[in-house]
Amino acid sequence: MEHGNDPSSLLQILRGMQEHFGHIPAHLVSRLADRLSIPRARIESVASFYSFLQLRPHGEYRVLFSDNVTDRMSGSQALMELMCQQLWLQPGKLSEDGLVSIDTTSCTGMCDQGPAMLVNDHAITRLDHQRIQEIVQLIRNRTPLADWPADFFRIEDNIRRSGLLLGNTLPRGEVLRAALVLGSHNILEQLNASGLRGRGGAGFPTGQKWEACRHAAGSGHYVVCNADEGEPGTFKDRVLLNCQADLVFEGMTLCALATGARKGFLYLRGEYRYLLDSLRAVLQRRREDRLLGVDILGQPGFDFDIDIHLGAGAYICGEESALIESLEGKRGVPRNRPPFPVTHGYLQQPTAVDNVETFCQAAMVLHIGPEKYRAIGTARSSGSKLISVSGDCPRPGIYEYPFGVTVREVLQDCGAVNAAAVQVSGPSGVCVPESEFDRKLGFEDLPTAGAFMVFDDSRDMFEVARNFVHFFAHESCGFCTPCRVGTSMLKQGMDKIAAGHGTHYDLAEIDKLDRVLQTTSHCGLGRTACNPVLHTLKHFRPAYEARLKSLEFEPAFDLDGALARARQMTGRDDAGAHLKENE
Ligand code: SF4
Repeated sequence: MEHGNDPSSLLQILRGMQEHFGHIPAHLVSRLADRLSIPRARIESVASFYSFLQLRPHGEYRVLFSDNVTDRMSGSQALMELMCQQLWLQPGKLSEDGLVSIDTTSCTGMCDQGPAMLVNDHAITRLDHQRIQEIVQLIRNRTPLADWPADFFRIEDNIRRSGLLLGNTLPRGEVLRAALVLGSHNILEQLNASGLRGRGGAGFPTGQKWEACRHAAGSGHYVVCNADEGEPGTFKDRVLLNCQADLVFEGMTLCALATGARKGFLYLRGEYRYLLDSLRAVLQRRREDRLLGVDILGQPGFDFDIDIHLGAGAYICGEESALIESLEGKRGVPRNRPPFPVTHGYLQQPTAVDNVETFCQAAMVLHIGPEKYRAIGTARSSGSKLISVSGDCPRPGIYEYPFGVTVREVLQDCGAVNAAAVQVSGPSGVCVPESEFDRKLGFEDLPTAGAFMVFDDSRDMFEVARNFVHFFAHESCGFCTPCRVGTSMLKQGMDKIAAGHGTHYDLAEIDKLDRVLQTTSHCGLGRTACNPVLHTLKHFRPAYEARLKSLEFEPAFDLDGALARARQMTGRDDAGAHLKENE
């Protein structure tokens, strides 16, 4: 009811249904289609796109184990197996009594306190043998989630090193008051002078983006905060939203003042649902303090407010145009660009999209002034950067550094010993081997959205790359054929090598596939899907070669194996029924 009959609220309506009924009931799909005056097929198409929405029942308890490589490194697969055994269940299947289903999901953003799982969208961290036994018992007893021990749902910030953002708490509204005196022209000048660049990885100058949005023609301007950090190994926005929510909203309101927007959205990734109530409470306080709403801070005509939209488990929605599609209640498929969101964004209107950290940094620029800000970091990368450290180190968590910090310095601070490689900026980023640990984090050398996954010398880097490749195949939105088919072929190729059937021919095929994906993919996911394999092949080739057969060619499809069931059914398993023996 709260969303009215607006089709652009479709995703939020479906999320509400999912939360209430545990799935999207078929009989309500037709009623919803009538009410929103859209085809039933559109609703089914949207519901089937997002992995947290289910058109069929998935049990009173839907358990999803986080399947990031760092969860695996801390034992998630064995824990999932244990839970399946104890509940007499196969992964991906609903129990016969309809009570529970267990499956995996992509990284839940809890890499500093994994292994982690989601139960009915609620994150549970620090899983171990004992916790799994307790969860099994609670499920068997049909204990409502609200009565589970609160400690299960405790999520730590794990801030290990603070700087400009994490070490300062600004009085609510202080930046806005100063900005109102400056006016939009001077705000943009200060941002440009500070050298602030977007913290999502691409590094577009923030002042230029806001300026372009301000000057774009449209019936209304919008501000969108991308809080859908789905890159495996990244969790810094989770921490900022928990401990610096006011600063995030201050930055968004500042953007509204600079661009002339009257409406903003914070798109929160579904895995961070636990933050929803506290974020809404912060928004409410800001409304009460006249920092949102009509005539903000008594300034006539300065009207702006923010809605929070909850994502539903689609990594691709972190891509800004896909996120806008999702905000409009559609499948999160990236748009053709140009035109860019600054001119044709939400509802085809000028829209400034930035991530959580960028809005905080923008507010800080106004707070300390562009000269001081520019003095932090390096010539082309001003300011500080939050790094999400996970993997093989005793002190995983959030570290804030001036740009220009080396990989080696971060490793020393987090206590990593015997590190053999660091994956910077998630699966689509760069695998940095030990010989390159003096490289610097920053736009000049290693641009990063924030993920910093440490692998020590006991890790099998082939398996790390295989996990990343599975991730891309799972998260490809399927819109364009090269990516849909290519990521799946890549996954099959890596699985073939893992099974001991790979040859040098398969490695050469990956090179060819990369060329196809680079040149024909519609968005960055497809273009970077081969990166983890190519990077690990370059630096850790023996991990691949140890698995290769010396044959020139080995088919990916095992025909003899595929006929095993037929042999079983016909009672024939003699040598003559086997293809190999007949060759
Ligand atoms: Fe979707 Fe992949 Fe095409 Fe991107 S490259 S639009 S993720 S299918």
